[in-house]
Amino acid sequence: MAAELICFSPQCRARFAIRDVLYNCPRCGGLLEASYPDWTYDPAALKRLWRERRMSNLPLDASGVWRYREIIPFLAASDRVVSLREGNTPLLDAPRAASYAGLDRLTFKHQGFNPTGSFKDNGMTCGTAQALRLGMKRVACVSTGNTSASMAAYASAAGLDPIIFIPHGNISYGKLAQALDYGARTLQVEANFDQILALVRALADRLGIYLLNSINPFRIEGQKTIIVEMMDQRDWRTPDWIVLPGGNLGNTSAFGKALREMRALGLIDRTPRLAVVQAEGSAPFYDLAHAPEGASLRAVENPETLATAIRIGDPVSWPKALYEVRSSNGVVEKVSEQEIADAKAQVGLCGIGSEPASAATLAGIRKLRAAGVMRADEDVVAVLTGNLLKDPDYIYRYHTGQLTTPSGAKILPTFANQPTVVPNDPDRIAELLG
Ligand SMILES: *Cc1c(COP(=O)(O)O)cnc(C)c1O
Ligand SMILES: [Zn+2]
Repeated sequence: MAAELICFSPQCRARFAIRDVLYNCPRCGGLLEASYPDWTYDPAALKRLWRERRMSNLPLDASGVWRYREIIPFLAASDRVVSLREGNTPLLDAPRAASYAGLDRLTFKHQGFNPTGSFKDNGMTCGTAQALRLGMKRVACVSTGNTSASMAAYASAAGLDPIIFIPHGNISYGKLAQALDYGARTLQVEANFDQILALVRALADRLGIYLLNSINPFRIEGQKTIIVEMMDQRDWRTPDWIVLPGGNLGNTSAFGKALREMRALGLIDRTPRLAVVQAEGSAPFYDLAHAPEGASLRAVENPETLATAIRIGDPVSWPKALYEVRSSNGVVEKVSEQEIADAKAQVGLCGIGSEPASAATLAGIRKLRAAGVMRADEDVVAVLTGNLLKDPDYIYRYHTGQLTTPSGAKILPTFANQPTVVPNDPDRIAELLG
């Protein structure tokens, strides 16, 4: 199978070898994507093959990413792939959340069931495989979030050294703890995010480091399989909408690419609409989508939201994401901190739970329903991107009425569930519980 890297910029479209160590187009600085110019498949045979692999115990087949390896054929050989059984995430029916949002039915595709608790694992197994194939010894990213947790796990599992660069004094403990446990070297640099990225790029060649930041085209390939697996689980019935939170917009890019490629390969004959949801305090992509045609993204200087996984002021993948949203006839919505917090409590009440960024999807659906953009009878899949346990502090504070927005405003505990202190007295407890 021929595979190459191609510049995403429509004015450039330069092509490069799949083994070139590139993060941006050397000609124009544009984003790169993996491309398979001569692939053709029999779609029915492919669907059958993927379904049969669910019966297989081979690690490659048991992976919810590599099971679909025909649609991510960037490797020449897959014998060095490291899998932690990523993917395989459930589709969960959520009637309670559906009625909260004003839909007849709603399904969650819960990526929080991944080995390190977020969808980053779908991409990281591919990014790590590419690092191994290139003969790299070290991998790095600039992140304190789910990316660093996932990269640390996959790199260590593969025998690579994971290195995490973070801005000094800017730490998120839950996710950083995972990275430390998975054995990542963590360097706190006295500089801001952009300066550190420039530094790491300069060091990468010198130290034989492969960068696994969110524009890495191979991570995008892995994240495509979230949508392929979802379609397989739905017996290839296309939903009307796929809803996801938007931060750096890598996932939006991946989902759009998956839909385009599945359509081109004849696996689906209709494209669901993408709905990307951002937090109000960190919504540069929302602004872009509502700006006149041809506008460029204007970064948000100090992005703020408690949904830290989508607290991104200058999302690198915006050109891809904008193209994908437009090609799917999609929309971009934004929601408040209060809306996210209440929606998160509703996801919890379904017995499902998620981290705050994921709940932006339900808040966004509710808003899109109220605005009449979505109809009650439409078939909607919302992607919950991360696990509830990523951010337990947020949950406790919400339910006890202590949660405040980054600017200090109180978030109302609309669906509060407070712990109650009781005496060691059976009569009093019986009375309390009715
Ligand atoms: C990374 C992440 C996001 C944002 O995804 P992008 O691809 O950066 O838009 C949302 N939710 C969770 C839980 C994440 O880890
Ligand atoms: Zn280019």
